Amino acid sequence: MSAHRGVISLGSNLGDRLAHLQSAVDALAPCGLHPLVVSSVYETDPVGGPEQGAFLNAVALIATDLDPLEVLAICQDIEARNNRLREVHWGPRTLDLDIIAMDDLRVDDPILTLPHPRAAERAFVCIPWAEVDPDARLPEGLVRDLAEVLGDGGVHRRRDLSLTMTPAADGRIR
Ligand code: ATP
Ligand code: CA
Ligand code: CA
Repeated sequence: MSAHRGVISLGSNLGDRLAHLQSAVDALAPCGLHPLVVSSVYETDPVGGPEQGAFLNAVALIATDLDPLEVLAICQDIEARNNRLREVHWGPRTLDLDIIAMDDLRVDDPILTLPHPRAAERAFVCIPWAEVDPDARLPEGLVRDLAEVLGDGGVHRRRDLSLTMTPAADGRIR
């Protein structure tokens, strides 16, 4: 049984958006981030940053024995392998993986803040997260309540798209 539970937000608004998200989901387990559940796929209007195309977003719950800084390094490595370039702040990207939370940890490190400081104000995070964990909490409150207050304007579930998760070969979560 893995020691930690984590919440990862996935987003893409460049290139084959669904393929980038699927490639991230596929990369998780081999890196020691075992996906437990992956949400539906949502098409979302960009928030902040320059004019840019709509995102596809999803949230994955993971189990891991790694510590938060190791998880961040892995997320950044998966982004790099999906040709993520860091050009414009909050600009378009092939893949963005944010750690939204790990257990009930609070981390205030120059390179990692947990829970993610902007999660509670983002419907594209709270709506998919509440879908896969109705009891999830942030310091600001129950995620499903936050999702309700934020509303689903600009966040549309894409019932025609989905992400697939390959379970561990022995069926167990390590
Ligand atoms: P936002 O954080 O507002 O969603 P962004 O995802 O566009 O913006 P990035 O350029 O992907 O921002 O990341 C900037 C830095 O944020 C990263 O280099 C990383 O060190 C830092 N960071 C701090 N907290 C987190 C977190 N919880 N998850 C991911 N990155 C984080
Ligand atoms: Ca982000
Ligand atoms: Ca990011």
